Amino acid sequence: MQPRTKIQHRIWGLSKELPPISKTQQEFAYSKVLDHVGHRSKKGITCMDCGQFFEDTTTRKRCTCPNCNTKLTIEITRKRKFTQRRLMVVLDVVDGIQISRTIEVYGHHRAGEPVRHFIMELYQHFFNVEGKNHVVARQRNYFGDSFTGDLEVRRNADADCYRYSVDKVCNGSKVLPVFKKLGFKGNFHWVSPYSFFTKIQYDNRAETLLKAGQGSMFRFEITGWGNGAYRFWDSIKICIRNKYKVKDAQMYYDYLGLLARCGKDLRSPKYVCPKNLTKEHDRYVKKVREMDRRQSEARKIAKAMDDEAQYLQDKQAFFGLCFVSGDVTVKVLESVQEFVSESEIHKHCVFTGDYFKKQDSLIFSAIVKGIPVETVELSLKEMQIIQSRGLHNKPSEYNEDIKKLVDRNIGQVRKIYEQLQSTN
Ligand SMILES: [Zn+2]
Repeated sequence: MQPRTKIQHRIWGLSKELPPISKTQQEFAYSKVLDHVGHRSKKGITCMDCGQFFEDTTTRKRCTCPNCNTKLTIEITRKRKFTQRRLMVVLDVVDGIQISRTIEVYGHHRAGEPVRHFIMELYQHFFNVEGKNHVVARQRNYFGDSFTGDLEVRRNADADCYRYSVDKVCNGSKVLPVFKKLGFKGNFHWVSPYSFFTKIQYDNRAETLLKAGQGSMFRFEITGWGNGAYRFWDSIKICIRNKYKVKDAQMYYDYLGLLARCGKDLRSPKYVCPKNLTKEHDRYVKKVREMDRRQSEARKIAKAMDDEAQYLQDKQAFFGLCFVSGDVTVKVLESVQEFVSESEIHKHCVFTGDYFKKQDSLIFSAIVKGIPVETVELSLKEMQIIQSRGLHNKPSEYNEDIKKLVDRNIGQVRKIYEQLQSTN
């Protein structure tokens, strides 16, 4: 957009005065920001920088191209061409204003031809100008992450599309003394320049982590991924004092969380600075899992004991009731454990439905030739069968016989029930 306000005119003026990206900076981009690879085939290596093939039958992973002297990382591939895109940032200070210029670096590589590369400046940030951050940028392509058109003053300097982290900071970059004091030494640790320049002054923990060279924890802190540094700050201070480098902040915070669960001393270097973090992390994951399993088992057992005692109190008077006719036997369930077995055998819900807690019901197991076939629920108030069900809640072929058998003996149940009622 055309600059309209006074401040926009000032930003646009500053932008126009910025020097073009110099030959030296371009050289840096091509040699230090882009990768240099050689493609290995059976007989040799093609240098994807100069495009020339040279014989090589070794298995080495790196070599120097005899043709252009470039140090190559060797990949085993039959690919004849590839393109790479990287981001570089050029930092500058003009009129006491911190500026970051984000540059895209392209390399088009094809076997047999020298690489073609070029750069394009995507956006420029001007930090803290009259209390605000500003951006001069190209138009962002609505689809995908590319930029086109001219550099113009644009709104929303903090938009996500202007907050890419960069692969490299260009040599010879300038930063305000305040950022040097805060610990900036030429590495953003994969934090976007925008996040860095707008947040580092207000985050003491991030500053400490940056100065201590704890790149991974610094990145977590400043990008606001979780509250690990806040939660474990005492442990982190110990880890810094012991010069212990945390390479993977996420895993490290997980690990400290596990230590806390296990009641370990989070101020002891023995725990806080493990030689092999991955190994110790995994060991404590197992420990905590085992702890959880034991706890949940203990809870289940405790609950079953409670239920068992209650069931005994409620229904003990009926224990021993057993009716037999031919092959069919019907007997009262005498423990919660028996409810569990009935449920498992018939795959119904006599256990999960808490039938052992039902005061007014008496539950029987019906067995034919030693095999459980149905579970019977009898209403003690009504003195009649509410349901009798077998596998998957369906009646078995003995359903009628079972019901008749219970009906015939209902007097025995009534007698016990009435005795209970009169004594209660
Ligand atoms: Zn070469």
